[in-house]
Amino acid sequence: MSDLCCSLLSSTPDSEEREWTISDYEAALARWCPGCGDHAILAAVQRMLEAEQLPPEQTVFVSGIGCASRFPHYVRAYGFHGIHGRALPIATGVKLRRPDLNVFVVMGDGDCCSIGAAHWIHSIRYNLDMVALMLDNGVYGLTKNQTSPTSPRGLPSNTQPRGAILPPLNPISATLGVANASFVAQTADWLPAHVFATLREAFRHHGFAFVRVLQRCPKYTENIFSTLVHDPGLVELMVHPDGVVVPELDRMFKNKVQHDPADLDAARRLAVSDGNVRLGVFYRNETHPVYEETRAVPARSAGEKLALLNTELDRYAV
Ligand code: SF4
Repeated sequence: MSDLCCSLLSSTPDSEEREWTISDYEAALARWCPGCGDHAILAAVQRMLEAEQLPPEQTVFVSGIGCASRFPHYVRAYGFHGIHGRALPIATGVKLRRPDLNVFVVMGDGDCCSIGAAHWIHSIRYNLDMVALMLDNGVYGLTKNQTSPTSPRGLPSNTQPRGAILPPLNPISATLGVANASFVAQTADWLPAHVFATLREAFRHHGFAFVRVLQRCPKYTENIFSTLVHDPGLVELMVHPDGVVVPELDRMFKNKVQHDPADLDAARRLAVSDGNVRLGVFYRNETHPVYEETRAVPARSAGEKLALLNTELDRYAV
């Protein structure tokens, strides 16, 4: 992404005077499959960046490996397309060094819940002020159809052709079970107004905001969300003034539950599927410590940094 970095540095006008539009956040043409839910999520993310007027040079997208991880190429901001499962530690480094930046992490279900699972758990506990999106299509798509931790039981794949053997991991329950969890929400790519509103709440939350986006993959898991898409009665919206408010969905979804996101026990009960899939904010708590604020790095001049570096290198001089 170094050429993008240079173009941002050389062309960005004074952010105070600039009104950012959607086109300011558009980069390369997305190369996901036609009909892939990632297209709608990208559009909602760019809409949220515009709504919040986030300067591209103050914004960073970090990803791992997978279809979802192409995100940094498609958003005009700083970006780091990392390695499999390691998006969160990279983003942690960015945030610790530059707490003033708006940091977004984009992962897939395999990336987050499998190889990156340890980083996922500890990032929740560290509660850095960033947004982590998990685009969950229930499969490894980029590597062409392997069972992932969230594949529904019985789903055939190249690695388990007779169907996924184990019950799927529930990412919402898992996140709610980690100490210091501070924001947990779920949305679905086929409801762009809900994705937008959820992302906005996540961004405005002070702390680690984990958002699972149910994401359609027409290539490999065409049917896993089709009943939800065609029958809104299977989707239950969690409604509350402190949750996600989307007035245009009120008429479409009769199935609603009042849920106060401050109630952790209720959030844990609602996270367990009973046939309905719930969308909205499960939990929000801004009283937990935010890691970068507990160990603020003192600001140093270039000269001071050079002196410290020389002192360190002198230790190895013979
Ligand atoms: Fe999207 Fe699936 Fe194609 Fe990947 S394989 S780009 S997730 S439709």
